[in-house]
Amino acid sequence: MRLQDFIQHHRRLFVLTGAGCSTESGIPDYRDADGSWKRAQPVMFKAFMTETQTRQRYWARSLIGWRHFGHARPNATHHALARLEKHGQIERLVTQNVDRLHQAAGSTDVIDLHGRLDIVLCMTCDARITREDLQKELLRLNPEWEQFDAHSAPDGDADLGIRDFSTFEVPPCERCGGILKPDVVFFGESVPRDRVDTAMLHVGQADAMLVVGSSLMVYSGYRFVEAAARHGKPIAAVNLGRTRADELLTLKVEQSCAAALEFIWRAGLPR
Ligand SMILES: [Zn+2]
Repeated sequence: MRLQDFIQHHRRLFVLTGAGCSTESGIPDYRDADGSWKRAQPVMFKAFMTETQTRQRYWARSLIGWRHFGHARPNATHHALARLEKHGQIERLVTQNVDRLHQAAGSTDVIDLHGRLDIVLCMTCDARITREDLQKELLRLNPEWEQFDAHSAPDGDADLGIRDFSTFEVPPCERCGGILKPDVVFFGESVPRDRVDTAMLHVGQADAMLVVGSSLMVYSGYRFVEAAARHGKPIAAVNLGRTRADELLTLKVEQSCAAALEFIWRAGLPR
């Protein structure tokens, strides 16, 4: 079976997307084709909340990474999925990405499973500011960091290598002095329950599931494949390399996301 036939036969898709969707927008993937870590593991939630030096390191690297990450544009994969939504074929799109590129491409029914990197929130009083505003504050407090450059990692952090972060000034919440954290689910942190419940509801309502660009190694995404399988829904996945759910798949397409979805432009969609 081809992916085109799968999409034609199953008119309401529950779509789960991962890092593979955004690599062609210049946002690197966490994992290689075997599903193992490509680089140092990202910041853990507990370390971020309890260690000043972890927050210094995170925000120093983020200051540099954001210049790149904040300007990433949607690619052909995001546009193809937005087109599927306009044709009424998407029950709900759930993304593990925090880059908001599906929304930038025009998708409206998106659940940001792991949150969004363009918003920063106070862990004490829940005040929210834009990442762009925080960037100005980070640069105002740490002007000497403007000169550094680096390749950015998937969470907008930057791959700086080892450096002394102890002089980096991390701004507290303006309102209450609390700890500011990007509005993303860190490793070691749970996805909010209502977000999972809403997504699960849509798994039940969909005809089939389509995974795009995820190895499903993180349980927060894998659980939706488990649920779809439990409901007897056919599951297709587009991913370069192995996924954790390979034995549950009806169809596996080992291509780049953009190449696999290209037929949406070439052949158009039914009706
Ligand atoms: Zn606060």
